[in-house]
Amino acid sequence: MNVHEYQAKEILARFGVPVAPGEVADTPEKARAIAEKIGGRVVVKAQIHAGGRGKGGGIKLAANAAEAEEKARAILGMTLVSPQTGPRGRLVRKVFVTAATDIGHEYYLGVLVDRAKAKITIMASAEGGVEIEKVAAETPEKIVRADVDPVAGFQPYVGRKVGRALGLNPAQVKEFVGLLRGCVRCFTEMDASLVEINPLITTAEGRLVALDAKLTFDDNALHRHEAVAAMRDEGEEDPLEVEASRSELNYIKLDGTVGCMVNGAGLAMATMDIIDLAGSRPANFLDVGGGANKESVTNAFRILMRDPDVKAVLINIFGGIVRCDRVAEGIVAAAKDVSIHVPLVVRLQGTNAAEARQLLEASGLKLTVAERLDEAAKKVVAAVRAAGGAA
Ligand code: GDP
Ligand code: MN
Repeated sequence: MNVHEYQAKEILARFGVPVAPGEVADTPEKARAIAEKIGGRVVVKAQIHAGGRGKGGGIKLAANAAEAEEKARAILGMTLVSPQTGPRGRLVRKVFVTAATDIGHEYYLGVLVDRAKAKITIMASAEGGVEIEKVAAETPEKIVRADVDPVAGFQPYVGRKVGRALGLNPAQVKEFVGLLRGCVRCFTEMDASLVEINPLITTAEGRLVALDAKLTFDDNALHRHEAVAAMRDEGEEDPLEVEASRSELNYIKLDGTVGCMVNGAGLAMATMDIIDLAGSRPANFLDVGGGANKESVTNAFRILMRDPDVKAVLINIFGGIVRCDRVAEGIVAAAKDVSIHVPLVVRLQGTNAAEARQLLEASGLKLTVAERLDEAAKKVVAAVRAAGGAA
């Protein structure tokens, strides 16, 4: 789960990370009041769960409170398109009004998991700032990396080494060690999967400040962090993914045209691969769970049918514990509740597969039955092409 910049800064500040004062506003008038309270120059920043806001016109400097109101009016309600939002952009509902800081130099700092090493790792760069992706791709040697020892935890000497490699002076290195310790503590204590400060800056006076902040939390640990869970902004999430999570379906929206309904995450991954191999792309990942039944199949259909990208659906169920005839009954019943307006290819294998096939054939539903997975994939791809959809 992601949170907004203003929330990330509030959390990081509790761990001793220096941030400029600021508050969030959902109207231009409130933005003005906050700017008056802060005094002097402020920055008005669109709050969306995507970076690159600066490049998309979502970050504006204001000389005074009246100007802050004006800038907030321009940003609130805009559809912000940035390199990270995709072409559809995101509607801006809130702005963060924060004291403007004079920038000396911009750095990148990230704390994340290195899965290959199974360690928390620190990444930092004196070059890049907002162009960090470019640095990582073209001059990866300019990124400083250091691991957090899983037994000893964060060690100040590691922080000093990174700080010196960034070219910070001795006073700044000391500040940096404290800031980095705060980031690593936040990472572990809050069950984060990413703590990113981009840019971390030195001010004109040489002090370190987190100018931006991004926190990602491990969904599986949110039950331990009620206050964080309450920060969830469903307006920033894919509406179909929100609905799926309410129905306890594991669903991730993708950019292809074949809607998938599968039981088991491993089979769902294999199904997506074979669709790709057959020449189309999956519109989603969807694991209806081990006990696929009428309710879960109906909910799954409802989500797939609301996705305009879906040009055909492939149902791939392996009946291990779950019986295929039960699933077939579920499909028939669901088709009565949800109008299925695209071609449907069904592959049911395993326990009671023959009975399931008979049930589907007797149902009068317009669908194509397949036995083998490669055959199912070819049939659904043919259906997409016949429907005039691109791969
Ligand atoms: P992002 O584009 O979504 O990552 O948003 P950031 O918060 O990282 O801001 C992007 C850029 O806006 C920064 O790299 C800065 O150059 C500029 N910016 C943001 N806040 C301030 C500020 O307080 N003062 C100044 N001078 N520039 C700022
Ligand atoms: Mn940024």
